[in-house]
Amino acid sequence: MMSVSLITELPEEKMPYLLRSGDGRKYVFGQQVATVIADFKSTGDVLELTTISGGKGETFPLHRHKDAFESIYVMEGKIEFMLDGVNYLLTAGDYVHIPPGIAHAYRMAGHRNRFASYSIKGNLTAIYELLGKPYPYFEHPTTAMNSYSENQLTEASNRADIVFLQDAVQWGKYNSPEESHNPRCVAPYVLENGEGDRLLTGDQLHRILATQENTNGEYIFVASDGPKGEPIVEHFHNHHTETFFCVQGQMTMWANGEEVKLFPGDFLHVPAGTLHSYRLDSHYTKVVGMLVSGLFEPFFRALGEPHETYTFPTEPGPLRMDRVMAIIDELDLNVVAKSPLDRK
Ligand code: FE
Repeated sequence: MMSVSLITELPEEKMPYLLRSGDGRKYVFGQQVATVIADFKSTGDVLELTTISGGKGETFPLHRHKDAFESIYVMEGKIEFMLDGVNYLLTAGDYVHIPPGIAHAYRMAGHRNRFASYSIKGNLTAIYELLGKPYPYFEHPTTAMNSYSENQLTEASNRADIVFLQDAVQWGKYNSPEESHNPRCVAPYVLENGEGDRLLTGDQLHRILATQENTNGEYIFVASDGPKGEPIVEHFHNHHTETFFCVQGQMTMWANGEEVKLFPGDFLHVPAGTLHSYRLDSHYTKVVGMLVSGLFEPFFRALGEPHETYTFPTEPGPLRMDRVMAIIDELDLNVVAKSPLDRK
């Protein structure tokens, strides 16, 4: 084994790094805690990721972003979410897609709520720095710690891509959508856990929750799950950043030769040029991530087959490496070894 060691705190410059569940820069506002896991410094202006946790009744005011796309993945609890005038009640595994210009707000409805907010182009992590104050603990407080002022909201809208709206949100009523699908264009939408554009690669089910069509090609958002299995090929990308956020089960990852275990809440940043691979290690493991840009989407479509149902199947599907090889020059993919285990 190589002895290089992966950075395990939020770095000040772009590099591969591992953050364990609860690590990151934390800020408290009201009874909510924002934990910044990736920012423009740590990703080289590529993406930002903050998890928000809080208790029942906590809200965030109605607002929109001018240029930023935001992708929200719910990890725990119940979140009332207002998206473009429609209210939804979200639970773990649900996804919200928020293009620029779309009004949104939330209210937490469970006792323990947590979601991940991914974004590009917004400097949105600055909002939490400006509205909150540094917080050294891991769980949200049992009573509100502080409240932000009108001046702080103004400062946030000056420093980050956020416009606060005055309209009142009527909470307490929400839509329960029937089966929903990714639209074929840039639009706001909600996907229930299990939904998304589904592709089966061997024993793993990948759900593309945001396609290039949904993001103007800026990124894709993928949720992958499967049983305990074998490592994927060891590879690197020249152009796109990948992120791996383990939300269920356990997995092993390799980054530039270093082997690390990921458990729920653990995050690995894999910028372009990082040699990497992963293996799912328990019988129900789920990992989600934003990939920036979105150019890698054809890989999943070439390697996998469209999958009708919402869970990974009992019998694995084919792995169409032949189709991947046929378009390898168009894919941002450099395979270095069949397995990271071959290098030992
Ligand atoms: Fe990769």
